[in-house]
Amino acid sequence: MAEAFVAEIMESIQGEGLWMGCRQAFVRLCGCNLRCAYCDTRGSWGQHQPECQVYRGWEGQETLQRLPNPLAVDQLLGLVEGFSAPWVAVTGGEPLLWPAFLGELLPALRARGRRVLLETNGTLGDALARVVHEVDVISMDFKLPSAVGEDLRETHRRFLCRAAERDVYVKVVVDGATSDREVREAAECVAAVDPLIPLVLQPVSPREGAAGVGLARLGELQRVALDVLDDVRVIPQLHRYLGAR
Ligand code: SF4
Repeated sequence: MAEAFVAEIMESIQGEGLWMGCRQAFVRLCGCNLRCAYCDTRGSWGQHQPECQVYRGWEGQETLQRLPNPLAVDQLLGLVEGFSAPWVAVTGGEPLLWPAFLGELLPALRARGRRVLLETNGTLGDALARVVHEVDVISMDFKLPSAVGEDLRETHRRFLCRAAERDVYVKVVVDGATSDREVREAAECVAAVDPLIPLVLQPVSPREGAAGVGLARLGELQRVALDVLDDVRVIPQLHRYLGAR
């Protein structure tokens, strides 16, 4: 049975993207192949963290259990059984660093009646191909050069071609340094796969080191993307407003 290093497991409200507000169990896998300037989950970067943190109960009243990593698929399924949420968000870090584990976990979750949302940075297309038919919804981040220091358009385009076999939307984090050109090129890349794929512009949440972005600028960036795509939405992170983890 496959194993993976898991950073944390908990139940909460989805705070990003098109499924915002849904109650979901979150399985955050360890490790990431990128280093985005605005990353708010840096604690999951290390791929072999010794402990998984399991938060049982609703936030604010939860108990914390620490389990030694790695976790086997059966062990993780047992932990998720303790949550009532109909959805399981598989996230990271970058969860597609663990394709063998996901190849066993995702069909088992769906066989138990859970719906699976995969949150990914959209760079590991070969790994996605191994599990794409075991996912209900894919939330694919599109990384702009100003965030990661390189042009990932071709990597994202190839990934999105596979992701488009399922229900998929693309999310772009924008900040005060985001240019019109970056957003236009991202939108054109998405449109080359399917112009009906929704694009979410997510303003970076204010924190140290991140240049915020105001309403006027968000409107300009949305206009730029709407010249290329049909469905472009500005959606900030909900859990920042709720004070959730
Ligand atoms: S891909 Fe996600 S987890 Fe990885 S560095 Fe970027 S924001 Fe952080």
